[in-house]
Order: sequence, then structure tokens, then C-alpha cells
Amino acid sequence: MEKILEVQDLHVRFTTYGGTVQAVRGVDFHIHKGETLAIVGESGCGKSVTSNAIMRLIPNPPGKITKGKVLFKGQDLTKLTEKKMRSIRGVDISMIFQDPMTALNPTLTIGTQLVEGLKQHRKVSDSIAMKKALEMMQLVGIPNPEERMKQYPHQFSGGMRQRIVIAIALICEPELLIADEPTTALDVTIQAQILELFEKIQEVTGVSIILITHDLGVVAKIADRIAVMYAGKIIETGTKREIFYQPQHPYTQGLLNSVPRLDTKGKLQPINGTPPDLFSPPLGCPFTSRCPLAMEVCNKVYPDSTRLSDSHAVDCWLQDERAKKLLATMVTNK
Ligand code: SF4
Ligand code: MG
Repeated sequence: MEKILEVQDLHVRFTTYGGTVQAVRGVDFHIHKGETLAIVGESGCGKSVTSNAIMRLIPNPPGKITKGKVLFKGQDLTKLTEKKMRSIRGVDISMIFQDPMTALNPTLTIGTQLVEGLKQHRKVSDSIAMKKALEMMQLVGIPNPEERMKQYPHQFSGGMRQRIVIAIALICEPELLIADEPTTALDVTIQAQILELFEKIQEVTGVSIILITHDLGVVAKIADRIAVMYAGKIIETGTKREIFYQPQHPYTQGLLNSVPRLDTKGKLQPINGTPPDLFSPPLGCPFTSRCPLAMEVCNKVYPDSTRLSDSHAVDCWLQDERAKKLLATMVTNK
């Protein structure tokens, strides 16, 4: 399968008065054409920073991509000029955010906002732009599109506004859509409808989707593959099946045990403790202080990625054959 995006060893830092926050600390992942990859983790784990870095939307200062590559169809986006990047944003890669209201301009009609990107980037005539806008309104399921295009954002419900944001994001036919918590602001029924809409859109357009979320329910519904982030690192990746049924990282296991599931009757168990301070992240595994299975090696050396299948990899000493040897040398060196 063709890789549409490949992120290699990405590092992002923010310089503040209090010191430097190492928000993203060596992240690697890829996404194939037509696939949905979910990046999951608690707030502050670096998932939004990662997606903003892909789009080069990290404000510098205070933020900076200090290392790594973001290869979009083979071209490193971290090396492009801002002008070139502007021709990619919204055209080849689009992004949508949690709150549809902030993404829409309250003073312009929906129709105007829909055709804007198309006219700017694709240089099409007014009539072709209007035709395409109507098609998009239909695709995202807005009834009476012709009348609705003349209306303003406040005349739509939250769910309808998110549909419009999705239509705007897709009108230039991007190959990659990055959706950062796209359903978090919506109520549960509307959430389900928006997730179904993503599935339908992917079927029709073949767009690849990176879904950023803290919500495992959302992930269970539409992800093909999952990357679990913790303290600025991806600590486990796998297919949806591998992550939900054979999670290997104690943090992934903790996440799954802390949400209600239909297939388990056990009690919900929150993960005790808090993630480490990213002003001075630990050298070793960042989950050590919360991990019920932590060993001596864990807080000293970061575990390399161990490959468990073609699609499944985990950063945990429990899976690493070398852990025992390393432990032995540490004991003798004491
Ligand atoms: Fe727990 Fe150690 Fe694995 Fe980290 S490396 S998750 S502390 S067992
Ligand atoms: Mg976020």
C-alpha cells in the first residue's frame, strides 16, 4: 500500500519563561492511502502538537520543530517555504478542529465560505465553484443545499456546522484530512452521525484520515490503525484489533481498562498518577511512575521499539529480550 504521509523522528519544543517543554520527542508513524489512523492519548500527550507540526502550524516562537521529517508523498514538509506550504494546506492536506464555530466566519454565508478555497487554489469559474459547493453540501448530508448556502453559520446547529466545516475541508479534494477531536464538542447522537459521515466520505473520495482523539469509542468506530501517544512519544501502534484485543503496553492496557466496554464486565480502573513533566522528561520510560509492572531498568533507559507483528510495535521493556541482560549488567555495575 502506498504511504501518503510518513513522519520520522519528529521533535517539537516550546520555549517558555519557565523553561523548554519537549512536547513531541521522536515520533515515527505513517499512513497509507485511503486509511484512517487514530492518534490516541490524554490531553497534553503531544497529539495535537504532532498534527499541527505536520501542517506547519506551530507558532515559532515559542514553538519549533527541532528535528525530524514529515514526508508527504516523498516531499519533506519541514523544508518547504511558507508560501509553498500555503499551497498545500487546505488543498492537498486539510485540517478540521474540535469547535466548528471558530472555523467558520460568522459574517460570511456558507456558500461564500465553501467556494473561497476552491476559487483561490483551483482557479475555477464562479459557476463551477457553485456546482462543486452544492455537491459537497449534498455529500455531507445538508438538506436543501441551495437555500442553505445563502445562510450564515449561526443559522445551523452544531452538528450541521461541523458538516459544513468538513465540506469546506474537502472541497479541494485533499488526499489527507487531519481531524483533531472533530466530535468532542458534539452530543453523542450527533457524534455518531459525524463518524458515519467520515466513513462515507472516505468510501466516496478515498481520502486518508488522521484522527486525533482522546476518545476510545471514536477510535473503535472508525480507525483502521491506532497510534497511542504518551508524554510526547508514540508508545504503541497496531491495527485496531491488535490494540483493542492484544494491547501490550501497560499504558494502553490502562487506557482500555478505564473506559466502559461491552465485552468486559470488570470494574473500571482509572490510571493512577499523572504524566511526567515535559519540562524535564525522564530519560527512561515516561510511564514508570504510574506503571504497576515497572522494573529497575525502566526509569533509566528508554525502551526501543519492539516489533510484535508487521503492524504491531511497542516501546516497553517487558517485550524486550534485552531487558534481562541489561538488568544483569546494571546489577553488576552497582
Ligand atoms: Fe512499565 Fe517499564 Fe514497560 Fe514502561 S517500560 S511501560 S515502566 S514495564
Ligand atoms: Mg488537543
